Amino acid sequence: MSIMEKLAAGAGKLGLSLTGQQLAQFEIYYQELVAYNQRMNLTAITEYEEVQLKHFLDSLSVVLALEPPLGEGFSLIDVGSGAGLPGIPLKIALPELKLVLLEATAKKAAFLRHVKDKLGLDEVEVVCGRAEDIAHEAGYREQFTLVVSRAVARLATLVELALPFCAPGGRFIAQKKGDITREVADAARAIELVGGELREIKGVDLEELADARWLVIIDKVAPTPQQYPRRPGIPAKRPLGRSI
Ligand code: SAM
Repeated sequence: MSIMEKLAAGAGKLGLSLTGQQLAQFEIYYQELVAYNQRMNLTAITEYEEVQLKHFLDSLSVVLALEPPLGEGFSLIDVGSGAGLPGIPLKIALPELKLVLLEATAKKAAFLRHVKDKLGLDEVEVVCGRAEDIAHEAGYREQFTLVVSRAVARLATLVELALPFCAPGGRFIAQKKGDITREVADAARAIELVGGELREIKGVDLEELADARWLVIIDKVAPTPQQYPRRPGIPAKRPLGRSI
């Protein structure tokens, strides 16, 4: 049996034809994830087939919201990357990306650095810190063509953490699961306040991923006012635009 078969088949449906070398990188990533997971809590999903689909293929589904070719200097930041999802799968599949993995937990950031070295990935920077702080640093604020985030916070909180990283004309894609109608409605004012505009909510329609999955696509249409994001913890505690 060949490696990463389920992933290869699913990726094909996304229009991605993964090479043997790319599949070998996914295999190493899987082995490292499972090995480190015995020492630290990185993921509850560890079974070979499940990781291929629920982590790797799900991460790659972000390509449904991209318009290839990506072009020179296309830069991506993954906010709250955890074990590297969706950032690392996207970098393996699209090696031309310039990638920043932002993660608040030092142990997880150490894992990300280890994976970067193990996979020999170029143009990947791991930043250990909170989005609320890093988004105020000149080297990161409004610097990225694309911002992605998966399973980090509710949308009203997330847009305050993510949109400040988007360059004007850039885009933020939040990966979401389940019924998100209320969550999106609750985020409407927050999106506007941080300089965003909701472009589309795209369904991810792959039989390999059973539950409803969505890409919430937000365009950066105006600079984010300097006061955002607020101090660490405040975007989650008091989401923007909440009426009470
Ligand atoms: N994106 C990964 C995934 O889909 O598997 C990780 C999801 S995990 C539930 C959320 C991660 O976001 C954690 O690793 C946490 O440390 C990180 N995180 C949460 N808030 C953050 C913040 N304000 N700045 C940076 N990282 C943050």
